[in-house]
Amino acid sequence: MTAVIETPEMAVDLVAFDSMGARSMCTYIETKDVRITIDPAVALAEKRFNLGPHATEVERMGQLAERIRRRAMGSDVIIVTHYHYDHHDPGDAVPLDIYGGKTVLIKDPKNRINSSQGNYRAPLFLAMIKGRAKQIEVADGRRFSFGGTEIEFSDAVCHGPNSAMGYVIQTMVRRGDEKIVHTSDVQGPSRQDQAEFILRNRPNTAIIDGPMIYMLGYAYSQGDLEASLSNIRAILAGGTKNVVLDHHFARDLTFEKYLNELREDYRDAKIGTAAELMGMEDDLLEARRRELHKGG
Ligand SMILES: [Zn+2]
Ligand SMILES: [Zn+2]
Repeated sequence: MTAVIETPEMAVDLVAFDSMGARSMCTYIETKDVRITIDPAVALAEKRFNLGPHATEVERMGQLAERIRRRAMGSDVIIVTHYHYDHHDPGDAVPLDIYGGKTVLIKDPKNRINSSQGNYRAPLFLAMIKGRAKQIEVADGRRFSFGGTEIEFSDAVCHGPNSAMGYVIQTMVRRGDEKIVHTSDVQGPSRQDQAEFILRNRPNTAIIDGPMIYMLGYAYSQGDLEASLSNIRAILAGGTKNVVLDHHFARDLTFEKYLNELREDYRDAKIGTAAELMGMEDDLLEARRRELHKGG
């Protein structure tokens, strides 16, 4: 497969990301022991620039949903890091069949969760997959072994600079010397407790929900941005060689400026969006929504 990492220990496919044209952080990781899909879902912004999704985005979401479906069907383990529709899907774009016979490792639906996810989305979704999955386990702060592969989760951390949007769990997959971390929606990471999981584990590869630059000056402060960039620099200085910055980061066309600054300072590392690390062109459809609608 086309993979961002391909070593004897692990192959990683960045399945669907905002840099590919719709909201997602879906990641597939395959080792000799186990096949894992993290967050098999994709969604579009209901409103951006006061505009609904363009037909091009709807079509792209369908294509990415099909990629996600195939990867998830071929997995043994499915991970759900929180209950937003770009991370879990109650059967809209990606069918619930993907959960059939799977081990599903989930964000705790009862503790450290906000009310919309805890009272509504999580119970609804879990009721839907209950009869299909082989096993459903709360994963927060826990470690699971599959042969020589370990999957370890952080404690729940804030979804962004504060807990208004709830909490997420971060995932680390390790086999031998190969370690990969998927941060889920940390939006930076601007907070020390979010960065800690990566800094402590020193993964070879970090798939990071980068700074939320499209909300800069609104729901995301200059201070949040600066703290995030300094944490990302610490992660690179700690020896992480592949750094993906995407998701909230890839919703604004200024993203490239930040990537270029990091690349200049850490020349040994591969730093880019998921599309770039997969050898594809960036295609930030949501960020270009105004232009798409003007073009008809
Ligand atoms: Zn989210
Ligand atoms: Zn998200």
